Amino acid sequence: MTSKPDLTPEEFRRYGYQVIDWIAGYLDNAGSYPVLPAMQPGDLAAQLPAAAPEESETMDSILNDFDKLIVPALTHWNHPRFHAYFANSSTGPGILAEALCAAVNVNGMLWKSAPAATELEQVTLGWLRQWLGLPRDWFGIIYDTASISSMHAIAAAREMADPEIRRRGSAAGLVLYTSQHAHSSIEKAAITLGIGQDNVRKIPVDDQFRLQVADLKSAVEADAAVGKKPFCVVPTVGTTSTSSIDPVAAVAEIAEAHGMWMHVDAAYGGSAAVVPEYQQIVFDGVHRAHSLVVNPHKWLFTPMDISVFYTREPEILRRAFSLSAEYLKTAEDTSAVNYMDYGIQLGRRFRALKLWFVMRYFGHLKIAQMLRNHIEWAQRLTTLIRAHPDFEVVAPTPFSLICFRHRGTDEQNRALLERINATGKSFLSHTVLNGRYVLRLAIGNIATTWHDLEQTWKTIQNESHDTIHFHPENT
Ligand code: PLP
Repeated sequence: MTSKPDLTPEEFRRYGYQVIDWIAGYLDNAGSYPVLPAMQPGDLAAQLPAAAPEESETMDSILNDFDKLIVPALTHWNHPRFHAYFANSSTGPGILAEALCAAVNVNGMLWKSAPAATELEQVTLGWLRQWLGLPRDWFGIIYDTASISSMHAIAAAREMADPEIRRRGSAAGLVLYTSQHAHSSIEKAAITLGIGQDNVRKIPVDDQFRLQVADLKSAVEADAAVGKKPFCVVPTVGTTSTSSIDPVAAVAEIAEAHGMWMHVDAAYGGSAAVVPEYQQIVFDGVHRAHSLVVNPHKWLFTPMDISVFYTREPEILRRAFSLSAEYLKTAEDTSAVNYMDYGIQLGRRFRALKLWFVMRYFGHLKIAQMLRNHIEWAQRLTTLIRAHPDFEVVAPTPFSLICFRHRGTDEQNRALLERINATGKSFLSHTVLNGRYVLRLAIGNIATTWHDLEQTWKTIQNESHDTIHFHPENT
């Protein structure tokens, strides 16, 4: 009898315990690593063999290289002072669920191919829908990222506007509206779906970086007047640069008047609707949307990747994407959801498992309290930054993202960011607002405490002192 090629159960246990031990220590000590690795592009690749091994290697040597080579080349998203982009974090229950997901390794393309994956996705997204206060009849589906969720929304919008496009293959004449501050994924989806960049109208924003409804109305009317077809509008709840909230209810008026699909991109900000007292502020008008995206991998403590998409028009989404081959037909096709019919991909990971673990382990009250803390700390830190004579806060802070800058030049702010990040103590990112270089500090990590934010603020002040005050020639 030939032996099985995989790890034996004994080996699996041995290395499994070793890996779990490593993860437990890592999560406990994530703050002791430099947030950003001190390395240059190519440094890691240069240390790795150019070709995969011909002969098998031991798990000991693989794990050893993980420790020695891979970990030092990581940017530590789990670090409590990771404040770049939109900070997120992995959590114990989510990590354990990911291990189980890999172990059972089901493919959720059909109900039959993975009944538990399909039904848990339906149930878990029903729970999340309740936490978010969304209408009961909205259909939920998990995609990998918000970019893909929004691409599906725009495909459904295209289907609603002209069901012949999927056969004919040309989306000429359709026009999509979003704000100048929309995430680039909206424009990328328009490129992918044949709408074309020339037919994406980026509507100007007001002084708080919110889409200006009067400009949206004029743009839609101008396009309609020359025979174009306004078919989709995408307001954002929590824009990427500043976390501003577009006036969704007012946008809905225009969408409804022109028969457009309204997709709300709440990839980051949507999670705040889990906090009861923020729900109305965050989701005002959202029940009038045709679709909505919220990313649990951004601010709901669920490991990458998981994006939740809700729509009140699942039939249109299904029409846009269903194309079933004979070999995928099943006896349950009329009685169960086959998620492959609602998207571009056939194979699907069992992503609902990690969200189910996270929602059950923490519960609504704890998650709401963690998000409430992040928002309150952001307000507190905003007040400190505002009170400092050398700094200014340059956008409202509706969620847990602070946009601020040193009162010096753009070059000085750029240098300041580089110095802060080079300390390895904290990691911030940047954006450009009204032509000026701005620092972004996002709070969203489960391990972050108010003390971490005080430390980060101290680092910012120290580095600004060294960058700017000790180098007055820079002013
Ligand atoms: N939408 C918004 C508002 C975002 O801020 C982002 C990413 O930061 C995205 C969409 C894209 O998210 P993903 O990385 O899941 O595609």
